Amino acid sequence: MTRVFNFSPGPATLPESVLRQAAGEMLDWHGSGMSVMEMSHRGKEFIAIHAEAEQLARELMGVPANYKVLFMQGGAIGENAIVPMNLIGATGKADYVITGDWSKKSATEAKKYGTINTAASGEGGKFTAIPKQSEWKLDAGASYVHICSNETIGGVQYHWLPDTGKVPLVADMSSDIMSRPVDVARYGLIYAGAQKNMGPSGLTLVIVRDDLLGHAIPACPSAFNYKLQAEADSMFNTPPTYAIYIAGLVFKHFKQQGGLKAVEEHNRAKAKVLYDYLDESKFYSNPVAKEDRSLMNVPFKLKDDSLDEAFLKGAQAKGMIQLKGHRSVGGMRASIYNAMPIEGVKALVAYMKEFEAQHG
Ligand SMILES: *Cc1c(COP(=O)(O)O)cnc(C)c1O
Repeated sequence: MTRVFNFSPGPATLPESVLRQAAGEMLDWHGSGMSVMEMSHRGKEFIAIHAEAEQLARELMGVPANYKVLFMQGGAIGENAIVPMNLIGATGKADYVITGDWSKKSATEAKKYGTINTAASGEGGKFTAIPKQSEWKLDAGASYVHICSNETIGGVQYHWLPDTGKVPLVADMSSDIMSRPVDVARYGLIYAGAQKNMGPSGLTLVIVRDDLLGHAIPACPSAFNYKLQAEADSMFNTPPTYAIYIAGLVFKHFKQQGGLKAVEEHNRAKAKVLYDYLDESKFYSNPVAKEDRSLMNVPFKLKDDSLDEAFLKGAQAKGMIQLKGHRSVGGMRASIYNAMPIEGVKALVAYMKEFEAQHG
C-alpha cells in the first residue's frame, strides 16, 4: 500500500491512525457485531459514540457550558442559509465582512433572508488581505456579524479576533476549525463542515450560544432549526452517524497529540517551511499580506504559468496530489490541514526546489 501526500482543499487528508482504527472496527464495533454504519442512532452504542464525540469537541475547544454543540448536515454552504434563518429574525439585518470567495458566497445567500450590510471587503485588493477592524463599518443594530476565519481559496486567515461589541460574532471556520485554540466565549456561533480538518463530508459542527436559540423565522425547516436540534441532542433527524464516529476518532487523535495548542504548533512549523521557501524564491510567489497568511491553505504561483502543467505532473509522479489552485485564482495551492505531516510539506518544498533548479 502506498499513501500519497494529499494536498486537497477538501475533502482532505485524515490521520492514518484514525483510518486504520476505523478499518479495524469496520465489521464489528467493540463486540457489537455490527458496523457503526449499521447502528440505530437511538441505540446505546451509537449514543455513547455521539456523546463521546461531543465531549471531546467541548474539551478540545474549551466550549463553555452555555453553548450547545450540534452535529448537523448541510455543510457550510447549507449554513449560509441556516444561520440567517435562525439568527436574523432578531433585527432583520446582519453585517458581513467579505474576505474572499467563501464569505462572499455567505453574504449572497443571506440576502434571501434579510438586509445584509457589507461591513468591510477585501475585494478591491483581490482578497489578498483581511480589512483592518478600523475600516469596518459595523451596524449596532445588526443581528450578528459574519466572518470567515480562513478563506480556503484565497489563503487569508484572521490572526486576530474582531471586536463586535454586543453584536454576536458568527464565524465560518470550515477550513481552520481545531487547527488552533479559539476563545469560543468571544463568538455567538461557530460553524464548520467536517471535511477539511475533522472527518468525512456530510457532518457540520455548530457551536451556538444558548441565548441565540429560539429566534428562527417561521419558514426555517425544522431539521435546520438550532433550537429543535439542541432540544433533541442533534437527533431531530437521523444525524450523519458514521461521520460523527470518525470525527470522534479524529478528536481523540488531536487530544493524544496534546490538544489544540500542540496542534497549532505543528501547523505553524509546517506553514513556516513552505512560506520561508516561497519568500526566498524568485521563482514562486504568494500574493497574501504576511500578517494575514493562512496556516492551512497556501496558494502560490510559478513565475511562468505555462509550467503549471509540468509542475503538477512532476508532483504527481512523486506522490504529491491535488496541488492545482482554485480555478478563480489559478496557480497552485497546498492545503496543509492538521493531518498533513510535516514530512509532506518538506517533500513538497524539496520538489519545488528541484523544479526551480530545472526551470528557473
Ligand atoms: C469548504 C468550505 C465551504 C463549503 O463547504 P460545503 O461542505 O461544500 O458546504 C464553505 N466555507 C469554507 C470556508 C470552506 O472551506
